[in-house]
Amino acid sequence: MNKKKPWYDYLWIYTPVYLCLGMFNILFAWLGMIEFIVPLMISIFGGGKLFCNRYCGRGQLFDLLGNKLKLSRHQAPPKFLTSLWFRYGFLTFFMTMFILMILSSVQVFSGTQNLKEVVTILWTFKVPWQFAYHGTNYSMGIAQFAFGMYSIMLTSSLLGFITMLLYKPRSWCVYCPMGTMTQTICKLKKGGTSHGDAS
Ligand code: SF4
Repeated sequence: MNKKKPWYDYLWIYTPVYLCLGMFNILFAWLGMIEFIVPLMISIFGGGKLFCNRYCGRGQLFDLLGNKLKLSRHQAPPKFLTSLWFRYGFLTFFMTMFILMILSSVQVFSGTQNLKEVVTILWTFKVPWQFAYHGTNYSMGIAQFAFGMYSIMLTSSLLGFITMLLYKPRSWCVYCPMGTMTQTICKLKKGGTSHGDAS
């Protein structure tokens, strides 16, 4: 008899649904905070890498695309991708961009900057996204944060998708900033488990 899959095996659906919702209403991009807060909370409160191992929809999605749909070349990722300097360098870059995004939202909150209705892909390419903004009853800073958050989520999904195609399905996991952060927390709590299973 086939064993029923647990509910969390279907979390891969989260990423495509999230990306689609952000095309209809950018304010849904706030849901991306779940992927920031939950893994950190799980690690901080003793769950180690449980989020990565069980609840990460993005990791599951790349697994599905690469292994089940056979879209991955299944090549070992280049050495630099798994090196400490790259992983922590990427984390630093990622967090710097995240802080700049918050500062930009604060400027819109305070009225010193106008709302920019664009999504920035790979921190470089600005794509007009006004079709997904229908106004807000709150400050426009809320919307600016949503545009920034969606940019981050789209960029990381894109990078993960490209590395899934080129290397092993979960190659994104070897340099994913959330994975690096939760692994660091695990190490600090002396309960670290390995990060970067790209299979
Ligand atoms: S490393 Fe990142 S993408 Fe991979 S499972 Fe963990 S949080 Fe998800």
